[in-house]
Amino acid sequence: MRRKLIFSKLPSYKDIWPTLKGSEKKPEYFSGWPEGKQFTLVLTHDVEHKRGYDRVIKLLEIEKKLGFVSSFNFVPERDYKVEKEILQTLRENGFDYGVHGLYHDGKLFSSESEFLRRATKINAYLKDWNTNGFRAPAMHHNLDWIGALNIEYDMSTFDTDPFEPQPDGVGTIFPFWVENKRHPEGGYIELPYTLPQDFTPYVLMKETTPKIWIDKLDWIAEHNGMALVNVHPDYIDFENSGKNFEEFNLNIYTEFLEYVKTKYEGKYWNPLPAEVAAFWKKLIKP
Ligand SMILES: [Zn+2]
Repeated sequence: MRRKLIFSKLPSYKDIWPTLKGSEKKPEYFSGWPEGKQFTLVLTHDVEHKRGYDRVIKLLEIEKKLGFVSSFNFVPERDYKVEKEILQTLRENGFDYGVHGLYHDGKLFSSESEFLRRATKINAYLKDWNTNGFRAPAMHHNLDWIGALNIEYDMSTFDTDPFEPQPDGVGTIFPFWVENKRHPEGGYIELPYTLPQDFTPYVLMKETTPKIWIDKLDWIAEHNGMALVNVHPDYIDFENSGKNFEEFNLNIYTEFLEYVKTKYEGKYWNPLPAEVAAFWKKLIKP
């Protein structure tokens, strides 16, 4: 059903997805990435269920071997328990992590009071895990309410994605500062994802190559933007078995990383989300 719906909608989205014209406009205060790199590539992962949680280290090892670092977002209270050891292992390897909602039950943004009630708990997890990054489940977002979290960066938005349940994109392939009175420091950095989420092209549309990621990445590179992708370990078929309808072949992701590495060697910056947020904050608040 969802698959059919997507294909029927594709022609009408051709001017807005996966690339939105105008989103490449550079902020006037931005004069380039560190060390003169042409573009930035940020790899992120949302860990949805135990299935994904059990694959975190496997994915870390694959990315590390290819010379990349990434950040994993964990749900504090769901069907897996976030162990301190795994958080430590990520940091020891130069990787990072953030908080992904609280229960992942679709109700985080149901009302302001509900959000604020949960924000207290989320803040406790941020502190306990010693992190300052957040992404809301299902990319639900209210950037004003999110200011109640003690974060340096949020990643609950996207440049353009009409397939999201809350489809309003932020229309830029660059990070930006969210001025926010609720926030202890008056605001935080927003990092929108700018490459299509894996679920749409690879689980629903059953694309078999990384072409959609590569094409968008080339476009972002041409415009010196930030390519930020969200890949779910829950949806990756690590054994290349083809058995699970909800999974896509690992090769799609590794071929994408190999493409970046080969075509743009020495030309891209692959920071952790916290690093790109710190870099951007300095541009805004020198
Ligand atoms: Zn999620």
